[in-house]
Amino acid sequence: MQCNKEASSPSSQQAPTLSGSYEQLHRFSIEQPEQFWEEQSRLIHWETPPQQILDYSNPPFRKWFVGGRTNLCFNAVDRHLQERGDQLALVVASSETDSVREFTYRQLYREVNDFAAVLVHLGVGQGDRVVIYMPNMAEAVFAMLACARIGAVHSVVFGGFAAHNLALRIDDAQPKLLITADAGCRGGKVIPYKPLVDSALASAQTPPEKVLVVSRGLDQALALEPGRDVDYASLRAQLGPVDVPVQWLESNEPSYLLYTSGTTGKPKGVQRDVGGYAVAMALSMLTVFDVKPGQVMFSTSDVGWAVGHSYNVYGPLIGGATALLYEGLPTRPDPGVWWQLCEKYRVRTLFSSPTAIRVLKKHDPDFIRKHDLSALQYLFLAGEPLDEPTALWIKQLLGKPVIDNYWQTETGWPALTLLPGVDLKPTRFGSPGFANLGYNARIIDENTGQEVAPGQKGVLVFVPPLPPGCLSTVWRNDERFIASYFSHFKTLLYSSSDWAIRDEDGYIFILGRTDDVINVAGHRLGTREIEESVSSNQAVVEAAVVGVPDELKGQVPVVFATLRDEHAGDRAAAAAGLRKTVETSLGAVARPARVYIVDALPKTRSGKLLRRSLQALAQGGDPGDLSTLDNPAALDEVRNALNRGADAGD
Ligand code: AMP
Repeated sequence: MQCNKEASSPSSQQAPTLSGSYEQLHRFSIEQPEQFWEEQSRLIHWETPPQQILDYSNPPFRKWFVGGRTNLCFNAVDRHLQERGDQLALVVASSETDSVREFTYRQLYREVNDFAAVLVHLGVGQGDRVVIYMPNMAEAVFAMLACARIGAVHSVVFGGFAAHNLALRIDDAQPKLLITADAGCRGGKVIPYKPLVDSALASAQTPPEKVLVVSRGLDQALALEPGRDVDYASLRAQLGPVDVPVQWLESNEPSYLLYTSGTTGKPKGVQRDVGGYAVAMALSMLTVFDVKPGQVMFSTSDVGWAVGHSYNVYGPLIGGATALLYEGLPTRPDPGVWWQLCEKYRVRTLFSSPTAIRVLKKHDPDFIRKHDLSALQYLFLAGEPLDEPTALWIKQLLGKPVIDNYWQTETGWPALTLLPGVDLKPTRFGSPGFANLGYNARIIDENTGQEVAPGQKGVLVFVPPLPPGCLSTVWRNDERFIASYFSHFKTLLYSSSDWAIRDEDGYIFILGRTDDVINVAGHRLGTREIEESVSSNQAVVEAAVVGVPDELKGQVPVVFATLRDEHAGDRAAAAAGLRKTVETSLGAVARPARVYIVDALPKTRSGKLLRRSLQALAQGGDPGDLSTLDNPAALDEVRNALNRGADAGD
């Protein structure tokens, strides 16, 4: 592959030539990491070039591009002004406010600088934390880039989180400033943010002194607290257009924090660096997502998630592409809304989640088919297992590669994927492909720590040092970084806490979290495997499988499933059919002990099944932490189904 020359700028050194097959490049990245990453470092602008590519003198901590000084905002905005100032940088489409806002790189520069001026005016400086609690609106992007510009550490908290979650994150990050919007919207319903923020600040131990409010005029009852709350539009107008100098940061300074759930209930602040992250973003745009400067990437994620940070904001902008951000549901005003945007903006790479495709699968495929998708080259899906029926459905409909890719909040960019920008291997259903460049992936036996043979199940680990872009530590908690990720085995390995299997051809398959595995009569089964089997039944839209204790067998699998409309009439027949399907595909050992048909499954706002809550309910227990629950009605559904009794079972 030849990196597009346009990816460099006059201020960059010469960009690397990524020639060779995936195998050659991957080997190079693992065997000669310093040479490999020295070449890739040229994809971005360094005000001061790195003096040392890798410092791994204090494992598992590693420092990339030591001594190099750079800035994420400069690489995402300023760097492109000369060559592509009038090219679209950011498009924000909202089906909630029925608006589309377009910004060229030059306009983005103005917006970000004015935002940065407001931050500086409010006393925010290098190293200060800024919590951003906003929906998918343009100002969320401006706020992130403005923080990056002045060296402040942003921590975006997903706008759907409730006050308690926000307060927990505030107390850990201890921000100087909180930036919010007057309101978000969901399905046309206005959700005022300010009351949530007020409540979070009232319960937080270390509330910020100031709250900056960006109002879209959605909340008619918006009330600002004098002395604490600041209206963004007024202060911006007062300050006028200002150019704010870029703060050059040493590559390993923190750029942002992103909180993710831990096992203790206290969220972990995943800390990212500056230089390594910028290089990983630049590289992945070319090699993984195959998006070159001037091309368009649409990620349907929320800025509050890892994908949102990397591929709604930093990746496309550092790569000189056009980033498309969307606020709203995939089905509103109709299920064609995303595909219409793909047609209008000639989207090349679309990035979404299996859940979103399953939602669309419930609707008439003509909503997708009727659009001109000739520019679209790839659909990337991540965040959860991609089941074969869903993958097949969308692949057949689009006629384009559907690329399952695996990553975690911690990795910041895909760890397992196919790399169409290098050479596109054939997709294999159920597999997110191979280790990405820089990721030394192994599948090891959880007890012996030895690598398992092809076809055998083990824990997916990454041999450190982790590549650039991955977390540098847990915010102000190096011990937790080591305990959570590097203490599972005798040798120093990053544990993904996911089960995986590698086939004879090297394709890796994810079998679910290590903590979701069940043991039935001495047989270890991944709930994921059973779910896949259940979902292959024609009647099923979606299924969740949990292990519940059983006197005889230790644990047994229990299924909760939603049905296609045409099968919903006869739950008992459908449920019996599901058991048969599993028995046929996986064997009697995996046959679900009970099947409950429900109208909806409890999910987090990012679309992940709340298996643990399901499991607890199925065992007659408390559903536990529901702070990320998106659809409370689904929980009642499950309770009712359990009270009613199984639709099929032993
Ligand atoms: P998060 O940090 O919330 O993005 O969750 C990361 C977890 O999601 C991983 O540890 C996996 O369990 C799961 N995950 C992410 N991508 C995939 C994928 N492509 N296939 C299967 N599981 C995935």
